[in-house]
Amino acid sequence: MPTERTLAIVKPDAVRARHAGHIIQRIEEAGFQIRAMRLVHLTKREAEGFYAVHRERPFFASLTSFMSSGPAIVLGLEAPDAIRKWRTLMGATDPAKADPGSIRKEFGTSIENNATHGSDGADTAAFELGYFFPGIQFAR
Ligand code: ATP
Ligand code: MG
Repeated sequence: MPTERTLAIVKPDAVRARHAGHIIQRIEEAGFQIRAMRLVHLTKREAEGFYAVHRERPFFASLTSFMSSGPAIVLGLEAPDAIRKWRTLMGATDPAKADPGSIRKEFGTSIENNATHGSDGADTAAFELGYFFPGIQFAR
């Protein structure tokens, strides 16, 4: 499996509930290397830019309000097959449908307040890493 990078977010609901440490521990235990990390409190406009692909969706206004409701932690993760591997560890979008043992099952409380984000493909990962870590030389 080729080494990849993906963007993970510990969303505002999980930071507010003080689950960030536990979630980052799960990331490390799963074998990811953390290559970049920041605490960010997004403006509504920054959340809209990040989720621009969803702007026509009925939940866009609510989602971007939620994502700008408090601090979040953005991480650049590296591992073989990182994009798929992180989405598997997170579980399904809706915590109620997420597999037992997944992060969203354990820490998510609704389809919107679902604790974490992960890039869904190579192009999205490149856009999302650049959105939060522009021009960064990732640590090695
Ligand atoms: P993410 O992009 O955050 O990793 P995802 O790829 O599993 O999640 P998307 O379809 O990209 O899911 O939706 C982006 C985010 O929008 C979800 O993580 C969730 O917070 C929110 N969301 C998705 N569907 C709904 C919905 N039906 N109602 C409210 N919020 C939703
Ligand atoms: Mg998505």
